[in-house]
Formats: sequence, structure tokens, C-alpha cells
Amino acid sequence: MSAAAPLAPATRLLHAGAPTLRGGSGPVNVPVVRTSTVRFENSAALADHQHRRAAGERVAAYGRHGLDTHRALEDAVTALEGGHRAFLTPSGLSAITLVLVALLSPGDHALIADSVYSPVRRVDATLLRRLGITLEYFAPSAQNLAAKIRPNTRLVYLESPSSLLYEVLDLPALTAVARAHDIPVATDNTWSGGWFHQPLALGANLSIQAATKYIAGHSDLMQGVVVTDSPALSRRIASAHEALGLTVGADDAYLALRGLRTLPVRLAQHQRHATQVALWLQAQPQVARVFYPALPTDPGHALWQRDFSGANGLVSFAFADGVDARGAEAFVDALHFFGIGASWGGYESLALVAAPERLREHSAWTGTQPVVRLHIGLEDPQDLIADLAQGLHRVSREKAPPAVAEPA
Ligand SMILES: *Cc1c(COP(=O)(O)O)cnc(C)c1O
Repeated sequence: MSAAAPLAPATRLLHAGAPTLRGGSGPVNVPVVRTSTVRFENSAALADHQHRRAAGERVAAYGRHGLDTHRALEDAVTALEGGHRAFLTPSGLSAITLVLVALLSPGDHALIADSVYSPVRRVDATLLRRLGITLEYFAPSAQNLAAKIRPNTRLVYLESPSSLLYEVLDLPALTAVARAHDIPVATDNTWSGGWFHQPLALGANLSIQAATKYIAGHSDLMQGVVVTDSPALSRRIASAHEALGLTVGADDAYLALRGLRTLPVRLAQHQRHATQVALWLQAQPQVARVFYPALPTDPGHALWQRDFSGANGLVSFAFADGVDARGAEAFVDALHFFGIGASWGGYESLALVAAPERLREHSAWTGTQPVVRLHIGLEDPQDLIADLAQGLHRVSREKAPPAVAEPA
């Protein structure tokens, strides 16, 4: 295949990392190359590989570095995010930890959007604090960021839209402030799967994804990826990646690449279904507010329209007054087609009551009502709506439960 004009993103995504034909033919998909070690023809070839790797080249001198399957996935994700290099990690959380550990040293300060994926705070409390690194959580506006930067601030860490409530950040404004102070910006891009939001083009320097979610797309693997925007950042991430011994199995790399090929069609369908559900939820008396940036009533809608070309399957909603935490749990328990569980991004629907302590971490959240996060899967949306309707009906009936003596 040869191309003169720049390829459209969908075409690039389908062909990035495809195996080259050898002797006139070859498979469509890259083979799964499983290995723990790499064999060399002679000592000189080994030394050559080691030198090239030390100089920053993407060659494997050992199984941990990954071979063809890993390279193909890295190439495809790099193309997807429009970056310089991609680094694979065993989970989304390890991708986040990799960035924090690679870019922060004892005495450093980092500013973290207060609406990020909550386990980031655990990395802070259990690891970074012991290393003498200070993370400060801020309400993620550009103005607030400018006010909080210290002489020792070495990283700004964001996520847009945020976890649970999907607050859309003004990424170009935030990255402009950081750039004026020469501070790198990392952002969690899991929500878009890298497909309808390109943070590196909007000024971020590192884009992180839990490939566990939409890239994999089938709830069958754990994986993370970090994409850098420059050779300098790639070198810093590469050395920490090596030091931490991060690697993923070739089978999982293959599954992630297989998922990636259908990312655009899956996301388009998730968006169609989620939009129908979000609009329906908005009209229900038991629902006070629906969180979905593609809805014109969502506070982040204008920024979403400017910086995103689509939305995913995540829809959260807050119950109207009169439904308490027990009612929210009864609602989730009553659903037939929604699994009760964490994570999202697979083909299937999920429901989870958001923990109030997680919501309170978001400065943008001032509510007191229970919030349910739905992942709208690829089932027929009318079946999902019928299921949600019977769940809400049950909540209405159980609104005022009779007083029951609790066992001591
Ligand atoms: C799930 C998730 C992660 C963590 O990914 P894992 O693969 O589960 O470790 C990170 N960021 C966001 C926004 C997520 O939703």
C-alpha cells in the first residue's frame, strides 16, 4: 500500500502496525510473538541491539521489551494519539504511576485536577508521599492553575472529561498556562479511547489511557498506554518504564490491537445508544440531572463540541430528592441487563452507585443525592430503556421504605 495524501484517521488506525508482506504474501494481522528472550546470531549482533536500544531506538534486546506484536500495537496507538512514542503497561493505573514516577523527584510538586480517577490519590498516599513528592489537587480551571504553580511544580496532571461526572476541561487554556512555565502536562484520555479527542494536538505532552476500557473493548484484558509528544519525554518515560520492568504479554497486546481496529465503529454505536438513554433519563421524574457532555444541557457541552468529535457510552445521573442511597442500590439491583461492577468500555452495559466520598473529591460536585454511573453497551437501546424504566419504577415504590429494625 502506498499513499500520497495524508490519510484520514480511520484509515491510519486500520493500517498502522499492519505486517509487511514477505515473499509476496502475508497475514492481515500481526502474529502473536510470545517470548521471554531474544536470540542473536552472534555476540556482535547482541551488542549492536543493546547499543541501539540504549540510544533510544525501539529494538528488543530481551523479551521484556516486547517484539512484533507489541511494536504493532505501539505504532497503532502512537498514530491514534498523534504522538512520538507509546509505552505499554500492565494496567491503566500502572500507566499513570509510570508517568508520575518518571517525571517527579523528591522535593517536587505536582498539580492534579481534583476530578481525576480516584485511585491516583492512592498512588499519592501510598507511594509518592514516601518519596518526598507533593501532589496538590486543584479545581481544574486555567485561572486556578496559574495561581497554584510553585517554583518546584514539575507536572500538571489532568483528566477530561473527568471520572464519574464527565466535567469537560478547557485543555488548550490549561496547557497554555503550563507551557508558559515550562511544565509538562499529562492527561488521562481513557474516556475518548483516543478516537474523538487528541490531547497532544491541544497542547498536552503525555496522553495516558486505560486500554482496558475502549481500546480493548471486550472486557477481556487489563492494559495501559502512555503516549509522549517528544523525543525528550520519550527518553524519560523509557528509562522509568525499563527500571520498573513494565511489560505486557503478547496475547494481551494482540487483543488490544484487535480491539483498536474496531474502535471507531464501537464508539459511534455506544454514543448513539448512550444519547438515547441520556435523553430518556432526562425526562424521568425520579432523575434530577443527567451527566453526558453530548447533551446540550450539560455544562461542558460547548467545550465538548469544540475539542471532541464524539462521546462514549458513559452516562451518570443524580436521583431527584426522595431517593436515598438505599433506593439507588435497589435501582441498580433491579436491573437485568446491566452488570454491577467497576470498569467500562466493553460491549456490555454496567451500572454502579458512585461512592459519595469519591464524588466529594470533585470540587464541581455540590450535590447530596445519590449518583449512578451507567455504561451503555451495544445491546438494543430500547431493551436497556425498558430495563431502566422498571428499575426506576421499583425505586418510586420503595421511596419510603417502612422502618425495619436493624439487627444490632
Ligand atoms: C479504569 C481507568 C483507569 C485505570 O485503568 P485500569 O486498567 O483499570 O488500571 C485509569 N483512568 C481512567 C479514567 C479509568 O477509567
